[in-house]
Amino acid sequence: MAETATTQKQLTLKGQRDGMRDGKILGYECGKCRRRQITPMVRCPQCAAIDVKVVEFATTGKVVTYTIQQIASEQFLNEVPFAWVIVELDNGGPRVSGWMPFISRPDDLPAGQKVKFISSYKPGMQFEKA
Ligand SMILES: [Zn+2]
Repeated sequence: MAETATTQKQLTLKGQRDGMRDGKILGYECGKCRRRQITPMVRCPQCAAIDVKVVEFATTGKVVTYTIQQIASEQFLNEVPFAWVIVELDNGGPRVSGWMPFISRPDDLPAGQKVKFISSYKPGMQFEKA
């Protein structure tokens, strides 16, 4: 997946959400130490540089860990059980949290499973097996 640095300095939460609707994961990268994160940063928390760029992260990654949810909030009532996952995005992307439907037992999702982000009308970031 191609990663492109944009010239856009500011990324609003709405811009980030709109990007996800288009199947893109937008976040931040420090121009000095290359720290990458999905949560907004104005100044790098690692090296304090203010040279922060908006970048497009890979939409693929691997599952680092997860929990299986048997009880859900209203938005996910029709999805239980599902996995709440921590995914490390490829190409040096950050770790992000999201969810995967159709996971009911640990055998359904081995740690290290390759996954890809899919655009969803549900809240949060949805992943499926790659
Ligand atoms: Zn930095």
